[in-house]
Amino acid sequence: MAQPKKKTSKSRRNMRRSHDHVAVPNVIYCECGEPTLSHRACAVCGSYKGRKVTPDADAQ
Ligand SMILES: [Zn+2]
Repeated sequence: MAQPKKKTSKSRRNMRRSHDHVAVPNVIYCECGEPTLSHRACAVCGSYKGRKVTPDADAQ
């Protein structure tokens, strides 16, 4: 079985893995009170920056 010429040290391995974490989503609260992701339209009321941006069946 092929062997690596130099073993990666625990320090080097851990330095490489320092970027492997999962990013925490940036949760904000919509005007309707629901938690939503920032820079995204609200999934519940469909508003973004105080304006309704998604088509709604009963609105038109
Ligand atoms: Zn909302």
